[in-house]
Amino acid sequence: REFASQNLNRTIENSVVVTRNEWKASADLKLELDKSLPETPCIESEISQVLMILIVNACQAIQESSPNSKGTIKISSRFDEDNVTICVMDNGPGIPNTIIDKIFDPFFTTKPVGMGTGQGLSVAYKIINNQHGGKIAVKSKERVGTQFRITLPRKRENS
Ligand code: ADP
Ligand code: MG
Repeated sequence: REFASQNLNRTIENSVVVTRNEWKASADLKLELDKSLPETPCIESEISQVLMILIVNACQAIQESSPNSKGTIKISSRFDEDNVTICVMDNGPGIPNTIIDKIFDPFFTTKPVGMGTGQGLSVAYKIINNQHGGKIAVKSKERVGTQFRITLPRKRENS
């Protein structure tokens, strides 16, 4: 597994296609991608994995709170001098303040046995923070929605 320069807009588009069966029934998916996004050094398969985790979580949250109406998932990309930022947003139920500090813990889940292993976000955290020297952060408001923000450095630290 090697770092290589990637157009992350393409990675986002691929992840959306690959997860189509998960989101199609429950959500409209909107992309707001900066067309001039610079290539970013990363392990593309791992960034795909993170995006799939976030998309599936968003679908499950929307389905749980409003099983009979579609929600919206928005994915955006942007950049500044130092970082590329990808956001995955949903208008699902949001995450209560009482648990938001625990969601990146391995095995933390609010889903019934068999529905969730609680591994997704801990894997995402390891990939972004430990493997890529980036940051994953969450902002959420109950009954409004949730935003996960991934920040990746444009230049890879030599290690
Ligand atoms: P799992 O999906 O197996 O429960 P994750 O690590 O992917 O494990 O997520 C942990 C918990 O974080 C979920 O059980 C859920 O309570 C919460 N969560 C994650 N993403 C969202 C979201 N988009 N909206 C609401 N809650 C979420
Ligand atoms: Mg999950």
